[in-house]
Parts: sequence; C-alpha cells; structure tokens
Amino acid sequence: MRIGLFGGTFNPIHFGHIHVSKEIKNKFELDQLYMIPSAIPPHKKRQGVADARDRLNMTRLAVSSLDGYLVSDVEITRSGPSYTVDTIDYFKNTLPENAKIFLILGMDAFLEIDTWKSYKKLFTKLPLIIMSRPGTEHVGFQELSSHIREKISNHYYFQKNCNCFKHQTKQSIYLVKVSPYDISSTDIRKIIRRKQSLKYLVPEKVEQYIKNKGLYLHDI
Ligand code: ATP
Repeated sequence: MRIGLFGGTFNPIHFGHIHVSKEIKNKFELDQLYMIPSAIPPHKKRQGVADARDRLNMTRLAVSSLDGYLVSDVEITRSGPSYTVDTIDYFKNTLPENAKIFLILGMDAFLEIDTWKSYKKLFTKLPLIIMSRPGTEHVGFQELSSHIREKISNHYYFQKNCNCFKHQTKQSIYLVKVSPYDISSTDIRKIIRRKQSLKYLVPEKVEQYIKNKGLYLHDI
C-alpha cells in the first residue's frame, strides 16, 4: 500500500492542488492520497482564513469523485495549531505497518520548511515529494542543494536517476516537475472579491459552496 499525505490550508482548494496531486499520485503509484486541511495554519495570517469546517467541506466536494482520494479531518479535530510532524505520527500509528507513506508539498512550502515545528524530524520519518510550482523557478539547483544541506543535513547528496536527494540515515527528498498551474488560493480570494468567475480555477461544486456561504467576500 502506497499512500500520499497532502496537507494545506486549502483556503479554498483549487485546481492547482487537484491537478498536481493527481500527477504525483500517478507517478508514485499511490493507492491512496489523503488531503489534510489544517486547522489553525501556523504560517499564515489567520485573517482571511475561512472556518476549518468550510475548508474541510470544500475539500470533500472537490475530491469526492476522484479515485483513491480521501479527506482527513485529523488536523481540524485536534486542538491547537496544526503541526505536520504530529500529523505524520498520527498516520504512521494508524495506517498498516507495511504502508509506504510519502509527504507531498509544493516548492514554496519546502523553501520555508525550516520554520515548521521540529522540521528536522520530518526527514527521519518519511520520504518527501517536492512539486515544482510557478513562482519558485528562480530557485536554482545550487540554491536548493544549499537549502537542504544547510537547513536539514550536510550529508544529503543528489542522485540523478531518481531526481532525488538521498542520505545514509535520513529519508529521500524527491524533486518532481509537475505541470505548471499558476493558481493560488490568494488569487482566488481576490477574484471572488472582484466578483469574477471561478471557472477553471476551482471545481464547480466548490464555487457553488463559496457562493452559497458567501465566503471570502470581505477578506483582506
Ligand atoms: P495561499 O495562496 O493562501 O498561500 P496556496 O495556493 O499556496 O494558498 P495551500 O493550501 O497553502 O495553497 O497549499 C497547500 C500545498 O499545496 C502547499 O504545499 C503548496 O505548495 C501546494 N500547492 C498549492 N498550489 C500549488 C500549485 N499550483 N502547484 C504546485 N503546488 C501547489
């Protein structure tokens, strides 16, 4: 059993999240992919973040028809801020022991991973899959290598055949070039305030949910 964990604020979930995670699911032959909306995002200004229940509902609507996708409420039902390191422990303790689990994140998130709680522990627990994302192209290979060696461990080395950084005692870090979707939740919230259409940006059911609930109309 191969399983991907894909966390985010999903404020709201958009086609960027959906399309790139599909590519990863196929490439890594994942049987299941868990979408995990965070409760209190420790890295984002709380202003403008929709209620966790709404973000969870939208995530459910977005992936309900997608094969192998699951939505986990583990972070929003846990009290306090959402820390990825705790979420990984939860999944490692509850999934079958032989499950191969991967953590999936975008390059923008990876570049600030050193601000996450106990981030170094992540690299002892499970392999990471880092997806390319428009807006981070300026970060070249050298800069990325330095980021990994300085912030995580000096003993990571690049291996071409897997396009990944390997380590003798830590878990691999895979770099994956996915199709570029220049979409962000921030842009979507702006588009909503301008009362423009969300067609091709979020699934129709999500657009309808946003409209019905009047979400993101007055965000800053
Ligand atoms: P915001 O604009 O509010 O910061 P966001 O669009 O970055 O939101 P998040 O929910 O914060 O969305 O992202 C969750 C995860 O998905 C992160 O790891 C992020 O890097 C990744 N991600 C989001 N959009 C894309 C995209 N278009 N391409 C690749 N990765 C993405």
